[in-house]
Amino acid sequence: MARALERARAESFLADWREICIILCHMVVRMRRNHSQTAKRRSHHGIKGAVLAVHECGALHVPHRACPTCGKYNGRVVVDIVARAKKEARRAKRKQTDLRESGQTSETKEKTAASA
Ligand SMILES: [Zn+2]
Repeated sequence: MARALERARAESFLADWREICIILCHMVVRMRRNHSQTAKRRSHHGIKGAVLAVHECGALHVPHRACPTCGKYNGRVVVDIVARAKKEARRAKRKQTDLRESGQTSETKEKTAASA
């Protein structure tokens, strides 16, 4: 009687174990990636960081782009840096006056942004 019970217990354990093995095998197959997916993932492994070059004015800039410090490209001025700075200053000033007129200061605006 005790032997039969022991045998039944062992058989049920084996059945459970077999089921677990089958599930694990299916999981391994399901989680496997094909060559295309692996190659797509590894396509980013060779990418290096952003490369910067030293301009003739001594500032760092992105190659094949106008220098943001002096506005020159290939020896001639292509971006009016002074006009751009004036424009940005005018925009900042207008933003400040708009905030003041609406009853907000830049400090309260920053506080509300931080709390949100
Ligand atoms: Zn420059």
